[in-house]
Amino acid sequence: MRVFTDPKAFAAACREARTRGELGLVPTMGYLHEGHASLMDAARRHRTSALTIFVNPTQFAANEDLSRYPRDLAGDLRIAEQHGVDLVLAPDDPKVVYPDGFQTWVEPGALATDLEGALRPGHFRGVATVVLKLLNLAHASHAYFGQKDYQQLAVVRRLVRDLDVPVEIVGCPIVREPDGLAMSSRNVYLTPDQRQRALGISRGVQAARRAVADGVRDARQIEQAALGLIGPLADAVDYVTVRDADSLEPIDVVTPGRAVLLVVARFGKTRLLDNAVLGAA
Ligand code: AMP
Repeated sequence: MRVFTDPKAFAAACREARTRGELGLVPTMGYLHEGHASLMDAARRHRTSALTIFVNPTQFAANEDLSRYPRDLAGDLRIAEQHGVDLVLAPDDPKVVYPDGFQTWVEPGALATDLEGALRPGHFRGVATVVLKLLNLAHASHAYFGQKDYQQLAVVRRLVRDLDVPVEIVGCPIVREPDGLAMSSRNVYLTPDQRQRALGISRGVQAARRAVADGVRDARQIEQAALGLIGPLADAVDYVTVRDADSLEPIDVVTPGRAVLLVVARFGKTRLLDNAVLGAA
């Protein structure tokens, strides 16, 4: 495994690797867990797999947890090595990614305005910009993203389509703790009490899936089934909403496989995301 801090040196290694075959890229913010590992394992089917570890400042709003975002580069590199990663980019300073004078941004459209986009202004502009930069640096033929960040995956798919980026985006299923909590680097913030209460989220998502399996099609009724389990345990609920699985627009009636339940709830200061496509096999 070769580790780079300099994006240009990483790009040169990736370009060289691409002369030998496909390259699968896994962009992350580090503090790696089994969710990230599942993406690295998937990317291994290509001739070369590449991982980026970069806590991207431009996707955090001023009031967010950028400075206290968890980091453990040594641990991350151990995990990457165990999962057969060939090339790693881990910039040690945001300035190597955003040099002085940086002024060009990717502005996503309607998919990015609601939900996380509404609650975290500028978030998807930061995500889209860094993802395009990383795709360009890595010369990736394939890039792997988790369905855990459902709206992000939708925004990235759209970006690639709209800007003719020659890469295949691959979405990977949510990896969960044995008790159901979706894995997240931010779970480390949770106190034992919050960690216990956070189970309300995955239970709420399960309840929504069950409702659809039982034949319920009314979106409000499905949201209430989830909220009934999440609301009493969370410190705050940002949203529990049933949307069209592709456009993310609000819907009233669920067509199985074509709708998604999106949840964000807070435990203390920690925001946790979860979701499920409803009626999917
Ligand atoms: P992050 O480091 O949180 O920015 O995540 C990097 C990538 O890993 C994103 O594509 C996430 O969607 C994905 N990811 C994070 N958590 C999980 C999870 N529990 N299961 C699957 N993918 C995940």
